[in-house]
Amino acid sequence: MDLVDIGANLTHASFVHDFDQVLARARGVGVSRLVVTGTGAAGSQAALELAERHPGVLYATAGVHPHHAAQFTAETESELAALLGDARVRAVGETGLDYHRDYSPRPAQLFAFERQVGLALATGKPLFLHQREAHDDLVAVLKPVRDRITRAVAHCFTGDKRELFDYLDLDFHIGITGWICDERRGEHLRALVREIPADRLLLETDCPYLLPRTLSPKPAHRRNEPMYLKHICEEVARDRGEAPEVTAGATTAAARAFFGI
Ligand SMILES: [Zn+2]
Repeated sequence: MDLVDIGANLTHASFVHDFDQVLARARGVGVSRLVVTGTGAAGSQAALELAERHPGVLYATAGVHPHHAAQFTAETESELAALLGDARVRAVGETGLDYHRDYSPRPAQLFAFERQVGLALATGKPLFLHQREAHDDLVAVLKPVRDRITRAVAHCFTGDKRELFDYLDLDFHIGITGWICDERRGEHLRALVREIPADRLLLETDCPYLLPRTLSPKPAHRRNEPMYLKHICEEVARDRGEAPEVTAGATTAAARAFFGI
């Protein structure tokens, strides 16, 4: 099985002490490539440094998460632009809107998001989108410029059927995480993943967050890591009514085409 984890927060402090083992365990189950998520200017720089140390295995995104949008300045924008000049940085993000937590004021979120969409337009790099409870505002920003955006993925999709079809209508890719394994809040995704065309479906762990709740045996720790992508793939395959190898093959081809890796 060959898999691509399109969303791994490998710059997170919880990975520092055993980073090489984490990568080795991922490789052991077939996760051959990973895209390290950048969530701020410094974090994106750190993601790129990881990609530099693991050529052909790790790639990076550069962006500012909506949680940190209040700190987005003209200087941040030029730092991101510089990072996006590096070939190992494969997407702009994660960027978007999060009205669930509202850690940054909404006007600041919209400003930072629009500026990063501008970077995607200027560089031709795809968008790695984060959205929670802000669907209509996100679509309102992207729809008018969709024709000039190369590709976009709704990372960690958790929405409903209307949101899914809005994204598919915009020809976005859909990132599915272990959220689908959460019987308390992800059950609806099990039917929805059947609706996603094979060439629009991408898989991600969003580690160290979102440890799949259906792992058996349950690990003693709560940290998610890239090796659990195989489990997510198997769950998605079952929900789609196809063999895990089929889901793996399609999502890996889609991920490689999306990120050019
Ligand atoms: Zn996110």
